[in-house]
Amino acid sequence: MTNHDPAFNPNITSVPVREARLGSVVAYEGTAADLARRSRDGSLRERPRTFTEAGSCASSCAICLLSLIPDAAVVNHAPLGCAGDFTQFNAVNRFGRVKRGLPPANAHLLSTNLRENEAVFGGLARLEETVREAHARFAPKAIFITASCTSAITGEDSDSVAEKLEREFGIPIATVACEGFRSRLWTTGFDAAYHAILRKIVKPPRERHPEKINVVTFWGEDVFDDLFTPLGLKANPIVPFAPIDEIARISEAGATVQICSTLGTYLAAGLEERYGVPEVKAPPPYGLSGMDAWMRALGRTVGRQAEVEKVVARERERTAGELAGLRRELKGVRAYVAAGSVHGHSIRAVLGELGIEVVGSSFWHHDPVFDHRDAAADSLLHVVHNYGDTPVSICNKQVYQVVNQLRRLRPDVFIVRHPGMAVWGGKLGIPTFLVEDEHFGLGYRGLLRYGRKIADAVSNPAFFRHLARHTRLPYTDWWFAQRSSAFLGEER
Ligand code: SF4
Repeated sequence: MTNHDPAFNPNITSVPVREARLGSVVAYEGTAADLARRSRDGSLRERPRTFTEAGSCASSCAICLLSLIPDAAVVNHAPLGCAGDFTQFNAVNRFGRVKRGLPPANAHLLSTNLRENEAVFGGLARLEETVREAHARFAPKAIFITASCTSAITGEDSDSVAEKLEREFGIPIATVACEGFRSRLWTTGFDAAYHAILRKIVKPPRERHPEKINVVTFWGEDVFDDLFTPLGLKANPIVPFAPIDEIARISEAGATVQICSTLGTYLAAGLEERYGVPEVKAPPPYGLSGMDAWMRALGRTVGRQAEVEKVVARERERTAGELAGLRRELKGVRAYVAAGSVHGHSIRAVLGELGIEVVGSSFWHHDPVFDHRDAAADSLLHVVHNYGDTPVSICNKQVYQVVNQLRRLRPDVFIVRHPGMAVWGGKLGIPTFLVEDEHFGLGYRGLLRYGRKIADAVSNPAFFRHLARHTRLPYTDWWFAQRSSAFLGEER
C-alpha cells in the first residue's frame, strides 16, 4: 500500500465512504476509453443529477452479505421500512445455499422496528431487546448490528449495546455503519460489512496455509474447484455461506483473489495490509484474456506458474471448438449491458470475446481506483485494451435513463444483472438475458455458457415482442426525444 491512507483502520467503527476513499462517481456520460483515462489521471469528477427516480441503499448490500453467513445473525437498527428487502435477502440465501450444496434455511434477520417514539427519545432499549432476541432465537456465533438513516441521524450509541452484550454473551457483536445517507454508492455497504468483519471476526493467524486461497465471491454457484485443484490449491469462497469460525481464519490463507473488485476491494486490501495475506491484483476472470491474466497473477503470487500454464492451455484447447462456433452464430449481434461496475466490465469482456458488438452500457457506479491502487487490476482499462472502446453511462440504476437509451439503440439483446432493470427490456420488446448468478460467465467454460444463453435469447424474440405489444410505458414521447443525459449537470 503506497501513497495513500491505509485501507483498513481497526480503530474506527465507520469505513470511509467510497466517494472520499476512492473518488467514486455515480454520474458520467462518454466512452470507456475516456472514463479509463480520466480515472487514471485523476481528472474524473462527479456530475450532479438534477432528477433522481429511484436508488438503492448501502444497508441493502451490507445486510444481504452478512445475512449469508449461516451461523451469524443480523439486527437492523431501523424502522420497519428499511427491512422491505428482507424477503429478497432470504430468497438469495435459500437459493444460494442450495447452489452450494447446503440444505435450505432461513436467514437470521431481525429489525428493531424503530417508531416515532424511539426516533425522538432514543432506541437503545429496543436495540438491546432485539439483540437479546436474536441471541435467544438463533444461538449465533456472531451478531451484526446494521445502522439505518434513523439510528444514525439520532446518533444512537449502538456500540455501547454491542460492547455490553458482547461481554455477556461471549460472542463478537459488531456494529456496521451502512446507513443509506452516508454515501451515494450502495457498494459502500459491502465495505461497511467487511470493516465489521475485519475488526471483530478475523483473528491474527496462528499458522499459515499457503495452499488455501480466499476467493471473495458473490452468492452464486461454486465454480472454483475445477480451476484450483489442478494447481494444488484449495479455494476458500468468502464470505457468503462461510461459517464464522472459517471467516475468523482467512488471515491464514496463502492469498486472496477476487472475482469482482467492486465487491471485494476493501476486504482483500485489508487482509493484505493487516495480516500480510497477498492480494492477487488482476482484472476479473471473465473472457479468455481476463481469465488468463487472473490465473497467471494467481500463479505468480503463489509460485505455481508452470501449473497455471498447463490449466490455461488445457482450458483454451477444450473450449476452442465451441467458441469458434458461437462466434460464427453470434456474428452481427448488437448488445446493451447494464450491471454493477466491475461486473459490467466483466460482461463487456465476455461479449468482446464472443465477437458481439456492444452498442451501449450502463454501469451503476464507477471506482476510478481500487484500494490497492494497482493499474494491473483496472478492469475498465483491461476491456478497453483488449476489446476496444464503447459508449458508457455511469448511472445509479436510473430507469428513465436506461429506457431512453434502449429505445433509441434497439439492441438485439439486453444483458442485465438486476431483476428490477430486466423487466424494462421485456417491456420494450428487446430479448433480455438476466444474469441471475454472477459466477455464471466466469472462467473458460463460463464464456461458453454465456454464449449459449445469448444465442438462445436472440433466436427466440417472440415472447418479448408479444410482451411489448401489451405494455404501456410510463414515459412520454417528450422524454424519448431528449438526450438520456438531460438531467446531468456540469462536473464539480
Ligand atoms: S437506511 Fe436509509 S436509505 Fe436505506 S432503506 Fe433505510 S431509510 Fe432508506
